[in-house]
Amino acid sequence: MTSLADIAGVGADPRRGGYSRHGFDRVELELRTWFTEEATRRGLDVECDRNGNLWAWWGPPGDGAVVTGSHLDSVPGGGAFDGPLGVVSALEAVDVLRAKGFVPSKPFAVVVFAEEEGGRFGVACLGSRLLTGAIAPEAALRLSDSDGVTVAEAMAAAGLDPALVGPDAVALRRIGVFVELHVEQGRGLVDLGAAVGVASSILAHGRWRFSVRGEGNHAGATLMVDRRDPMIAAARVVLAARQAATSGARATVGKLVPNPGGTNVIPSSVDLWLDARAEDDARTRAVVEEISAAASAAAAEEGCSVTVTEESYGDTVVFDAALRDSLSGVLGGVPALPTGAGHDAGILAGHVPTAMLFVRNPTGVSHAPQEHAEPDDCAAGVVALAAVLEELVR
Ligand SMILES: [Zn+2]
Repeated sequence: MTSLADIAGVGADPRRGGYSRHGFDRVELELRTWFTEEATRRGLDVECDRNGNLWAWWGPPGDGAVVTGSHLDSVPGGGAFDGPLGVVSALEAVDVLRAKGFVPSKPFAVVVFAEEEGGRFGVACLGSRLLTGAIAPEAALRLSDSDGVTVAEAMAAAGLDPALVGPDAVALRRIGVFVELHVEQGRGLVDLGAAVGVASSILAHGRWRFSVRGEGNHAGATLMVDRRDPMIAAARVVLAARQAATSGARATVGKLVPNPGGTNVIPSSVDLWLDARAEDDARTRAVVEEISAAASAAAAEEGCSVTVTEESYGDTVVFDAALRDSLSGVLGGVPALPTGAGHDAGILAGHVPTAMLFVRNPTGVSHAPQEHAEPDDCAAGVVALAAVLEELVR
């Protein structure tokens, strides 16, 4: 038996609540060790690819494998289910199939992708992006965390060779089909009265850094009229994001860093990050352009300047319809539903047939400590995943 309870103590964040588990940090490395032990205990052979993704093979590795899994990292102060539920369910699905005496007739693997949330280095789905070539290795290796540690340094410390990072045709060829089980990040299944569903699509989404530069100065001695305060412009960017996100689009500023960040100091600069999502590329770009225009106007009015940098972007993903319908059929016609959340499955969908199973989340809350799924629904997820894998690996 493997369960989320096994790792409940790993990476708990006493300050934020929930969990802070980030790519290649001490906590995530501990979870990787835990995964390796759990997989090895089942007789699976674990290997780490050039980009830091872990593969646990049931039988000999080979091309065209049936692959399932998810990630073990979290957002800062995230929930217990986003990521680990898919990994634990994958291992449990292996147990279910084993108990039936089932032996896969083609290659089969459980995968753990590295730094899916981008919680440490800012780019989501880093492991799957590197594997598929969706991010240039030089650009990825240069990314740094809030302490200035680069991806290259973090990978090297984890025993990987940064020189080998990059597109991995061998690993990609080995994936015949990928199925990721994930806690739903919304209330779709609650409204539909279903424990499990399949994904239909993912919104187009990306991250943009807004760097507003002004003039650092004294909070008491500087007259209001003399200020070039980047925080004022930054605040207006936050409000512009709310205004621009209409008709189903979403725009969020969840991170804002003033420099130097003192109570009695007018900041010299403020960096803030916009997460924007919408139904398609054009609408997402339009939302970001509207917010960028508002940022330029606000910066000019405050005597500041602003630069906008796209840090990552992914177009709308529509999951393989035939695979989706066939999985829904195997599961007795469970509903298909879209999601606003990004996943490694979304990155892989551009290269191999890919599907996702969602497990009901009673409140819809995710990326927060309150994220939840009932034990019965998690169990239903394992049964569903096992049924789907059995069908695919037959
Ligand atoms: Zn996730």
